[in-house]
Amino acid sequence: MGKIPVGILGATGMVGQQYIALLENHPWFEVRYLAASPRSAGKTYREAAAGRWHLVKPCPDAVGALMVEDANDVSRATAAGIGGECAFVFSALEMGKDEIRALEEAYAASGIPVVSNASAHRWTPDVPMVIPEINPHHLDIIPIQRKNRGWDRGFIVVKPNCSIQSYLTPLYALTRAGYPISRIFVTTLQAVSGAGYPGVPSLDMIDNVVPYIGGEEEKTEQEPLKILGTLKNDGIENAAVPRISAHCNRVPVSDGHTACLSLEFAGSKPSVDEVKQIWAAFTALPQELDLPLAPKRPIILREEPDRPQPRKDRDTDKAMAVTLGRLRPCNIFDLRFTALSHNTVRGAAGGGILNAELLKAKEYLS
Ligand code: NAP
Repeated sequence: MGKIPVGILGATGMVGQQYIALLENHPWFEVRYLAASPRSAGKTYREAAAGRWHLVKPCPDAVGALMVEDANDVSRATAAGIGGECAFVFSALEMGKDEIRALEEAYAASGIPVVSNASAHRWTPDVPMVIPEINPHHLDIIPIQRKNRGWDRGFIVVKPNCSIQSYLTPLYALTRAGYPISRIFVTTLQAVSGAGYPGVPSLDMIDNVVPYIGGEEEKTEQEPLKILGTLKNDGIENAAVPRISAHCNRVPVSDGHTACLSLEFAGSKPSVDEVKQIWAAFTALPQELDLPLAPKRPIILREEPDRPQPRKDRDTDKAMAVTLGRLRPCNIFDLRFTALSHNTVRGAAGGGILNAELLKAKEYLS
C-alpha cells in the first residue's frame, strides 16, 4: 500500500521544520504539500527556508524542491495537482488566534482533516486535545464534531501546550494506578525554541532568565483539566482536579523544556519505590499499537542526582520519551521531581505525528 500524502501548514517555522525532518522516511506518511505565509508562497521550500533551517539534519531534497503555497488560500490545498492529493494537514501556523481558528475550520470544512499544534482550538468543546498515552478515547468526539458542523470528511484534533508535556503523562500514570492527585506546584524552565523563530531577542536571553511567557501559565494550569476530562455527548467536560499553580520561565536553552514539581495526592499516597515501579511499568495505547513514533517506554526515570538535563536527555527514544529525575519526598506536599521533554518534538511536531498515527490506527485517516 502507498504512503498517505500529507501537507504541512506553517512548514517554514520551527515546528514545521521538525515535521519535515520527522516525516522523512516515515512508514505511513509522505509530505506532498507545504504552505506558509504569503511571504514564502511562490518559492521552492529550499528558497523559502534559506538561512533559517534550524536543524542539524539537512532538509530532504524532495521536500526542498516542493513549491510553498499560501496557507490562507485553502483552495490550493484541494486543487488537483497541487494539494489535491492531501489526505490531511498538520497545522503549525503562528498567527492571530482568531485567524488560525477560522483557517483550520476552513480546511476541515473543505474536507481536509487538521492535526494541529496551535492553541486556537484547544478550548473548543468538541475539539479533542490529545496526548495519545492519556486520552486517546477523546477522539471518539470526532463524529459529533462533524455532525455539529456539517463536515463530512474533515475534522480538527489538537495537541496541548509543550509546557505540560514533560509531566502530565507521569502524573496520569500515578492516577491510573489508583493515586489521584489533588494539587500541583510547578515551575517550568522553557527553551527558546518554544518561542518560534526569531523568537526572543538574543540580548534578552544571553546570561539571563525571563520570568514571563505570555499566556503560558494559564495554559499550563488549565489544559491538563481538559485532557483529563470526561467525554460527554456534546463535548469534553473538564476535570475538576488537580489544581495547578505554575511559574513559567524562559531560559537560555535551545531545545527541551524542564519542569520542577511538587504534588499532593488526593487520597492514599504511594511510596517513592511504588512510584518508581509505576513509572517503569507504564505503557499505553501507542505502545500497544506499536505506533511508529511511539517511544518504547514513555517515562524514563534517571537515578543520577543531576539528571534530567536538556542537552543530555531531550533526545531520549527519538526525543519522544519524557525523562524524570530527582524523585524525593516534599516537605510541604507529598512528592517532588524534575521532568524534561523535547519541546519541538514530543511537545510539538512529534506529538502531532503521534496523534496522526493514532488517528490512522483508529481509521479516521485514509
Ligand atoms: P514560527 O517558527 O514562528 O513559524 C510560524 C509559521 O507560520 C511559519 O511557517 C510562518 O510562515 C507561518 N505564518 C506566519 N504568519 C502567517 C500568515 N499570516 N499566514 C500564513 N502562515 C503564516 O512558529 P513555531 O514555533 O513553529 O510554532 C508554530 C505553532 O506551533 C504555533 O501555533 C505555536 O504556538 C505552536 N507550538 C510551538 C511549539 C514550539 O516549541 N515552538 C510547541 C508547541 C506548539 P513564514 O515563514 O512564511 O512567515
